[in-house]
Amino acid sequence: MHEIILALNAGSSSIKFQAFAIAGDGLERRVSGLLEGIGNAARLVIRDGAGRILRDDHLSTAAAPSVEAAETVVGDWLLGDEAMQLIGGRIAAIGHRVVHGGADFSTAAKIDDEVLARITALTHLAPLHQPKNLAPILAWRQRRPELPQIACFDTAFHRGHSALADRFAIPDELYREGVRRYGFHGISYEYVSEKLGEIAPAIAKGRVIIAHLGNGCSLCAVKDGRSVDSTMSFTALDGIPMGTRPGAIDPGIVLYLMREKAMDAAAIEKFLYHQCGLKGLSGISNDVRVLEASAEPQARLALDHFVYRIAKEIGALAAVLGGIDALVFTAGIGENGTDLRARIVAASNWLGLHLDPAANAARQTDLSAAATGPRVLMVPTDEELMIARHTRRILSLT
Ligand code: AMP
Repeated sequence: MHEIILALNAGSSSIKFQAFAIAGDGLERRVSGLLEGIGNAARLVIRDGAGRILRDDHLSTAAAPSVEAAETVVGDWLLGDEAMQLIGGRIAAIGHRVVHGGADFSTAAKIDDEVLARITALTHLAPLHQPKNLAPILAWRQRRPELPQIACFDTAFHRGHSALADRFAIPDELYREGVRRYGFHGISYEYVSEKLGEIAPAIAKGRVIIAHLGNGCSLCAVKDGRSVDSTMSFTALDGIPMGTRPGAIDPGIVLYLMREKAMDAAAIEKFLYHQCGLKGLSGISNDVRVLEASAEPQARLALDHFVYRIAKEIGALAAVLGGIDALVFTAGIGENGTDLRARIVAASNWLGLHLDPAANAARQTDLSAAATGPRVLMVPTDEELMIARHTRRILSLT
């Protein structure tokens, strides 16, 4: 009977999960699932290892009003007969995505009481995300206390940043109490970097900018497979615009909101996480597909601004790297947004980046126009596979 690793990725309004069988040196995907729209119009989609949809259930709001409740739906399903038949093995361990690992965790860690306490203590640095990541850890501790659990941190891949890149120009005592440029989306960046090592080893040793453009968006400068800088920093608000987050803004705007609009921390937090970005600027939607289909000038402005800001930050990270050997697109928009990819590359032509329209439309891996020079690549991310790899490595599962 195969040993199975479950990988759980609990986000702000969704839970993604996959089950992998340990097969020789590799991991074989047996099942994947997505419970999205938590608290609203929740939907559970289950696919087999080949990606075929097996189940597409709409859940009542009462069934999944919160991530904690949705976690119970997922946990019950995973321990039920249908999942057991699909998975076809014995669950040996569970790996979790944890957004914040602070300054201490530079790699994944086995969760014991002490590690759990340290993860919990970091909640103040990611108050919206860390509790959602903790929910499945706590639930599985109760459900199956004998199962080893591993925490994989979104910050860990960035822990090798230089002291220069790690700082804000503010008094050092704040740095010492944890106000640092951590960087996020690290599990995705690590996966894409490893994949580059397989498909383009020479490029993987060079200067690479990875654009993780999904619900959350950030860019990462990678040199020889290691993160050297990233656009997200202390929180997942910094950097380039996102669906509902603004990316970097003048901190004076926060003071303005406090003074002129009498907004408190909770109101500003809601504003910055949920009412800005593409949604705020367009006044229409956070979804690129909706904006691309809209004839409204504000929809066009939002997309133009998105491209402008990303191209600007690509230039900044190219400066950090001293040049660029490849730009790699990943995540929902990066993998599917054909038009946006073309526009971002067009705005980066000055770096020697050029796109082949046919390769772009066909969603190939190498989208570059020329056979030589800096490459433009598209590499689908797989955070759950990266979580499962870490889980296997930490536990030495064979
Ligand atoms: P993710 O967080 O990686 O699942 O990405 C989700 C985002 O991908 C959505 O908010 C959409 O804006 C975007 N997306 C999905 N499909 C497409 C598409 N065909 N074209 C452009 N953007 C897309």
